[in-house]
Amino acid sequence: MARMSKENAARFFALLAAERPDPTTELDYINPYTLLVAVVLSAQATDVSVNKATVELFKVVDTPEKMVALGEAKLRDTIRTIGLYRTKAANVIRLSQILIEKHGGTVPANREALEALPGVGRKTANVVLNVAFGQPTIAVDTHIFRLANRTRLAPGKDPRAVEHALEQVVPEKYLRHAHHWLILHGRYVCTARNPKCTACVVNELCLYEGKTTLAEPVKAKVSPARRPSNRGRASSSPATGRRAPRRARTPGAT
Ligand code: SF4
Repeated sequence: MARMSKENAARFFALLAAERPDPTTELDYINPYTLLVAVVLSAQATDVSVNKATVELFKVVDTPEKMVALGEAKLRDTIRTIGLYRTKAANVIRLSQILIEKHGGTVPANREALEALPGVGRKTANVVLNVAFGQPTIAVDTHIFRLANRTRLAPGKDPRAVEHALEQVVPEKYLRHAHHWLILHGRYVCTARNPKCTACVVNELCLYEGKTTLAEPVKAKVSPARRPSNRGRASSSPATGRRAPRRARTPGAT
């Protein structure tokens, strides 16, 4: 089966980058620790549902020590609107204890240590390494898996294979933000059902046989809300990078 050429993959990311110059996670967080907690809570749940549950929590609990002091029962009650909340609450308390015991209460900036934490798999580690520590990792979620296979950008039979395929075709200058561009495109344009092909900036490059083709190519537009800014970005100093919680973007805003 055909797959996208490296040259077209580079054009693919240039178009997504023009459309969203400043992509980032839609999870709200205030420092690397709250980012880690938010990502753990987001497994099989929407970012919006996690943000609703954490908006008050993170105002008072923003360190492992405070989370342990809060306790599993209260945390469970706070996040009970999120799927799998019992397991997630237990994992968050345990990982907080481990961060205190083994990492001085900080989030480690390496994959091995992150993946050793309860509830933290490769995808979660990739998100934390990318967003909190600026590493060029690609966290393959359901949107990226679908998009990479559907467009033939980086086909693979499982998330690890897609991650590897993406690493082969994403130009180095786009690696840092590649997974956010793909997630946002998959979440709001190349949706699982009824992909919005007529509003898709990469329509011409996409190799999906079921796509709706265009008479005229879509031009990447940069709305004022999408222009680069520091708002909503992780601090360049992750260990101390505190910032106010952001409001979740709505699908309509993208
Ligand atoms: S053209 Fe359609 S199928 Fe292809 S990436 Fe765009 S939205 Fe997805």
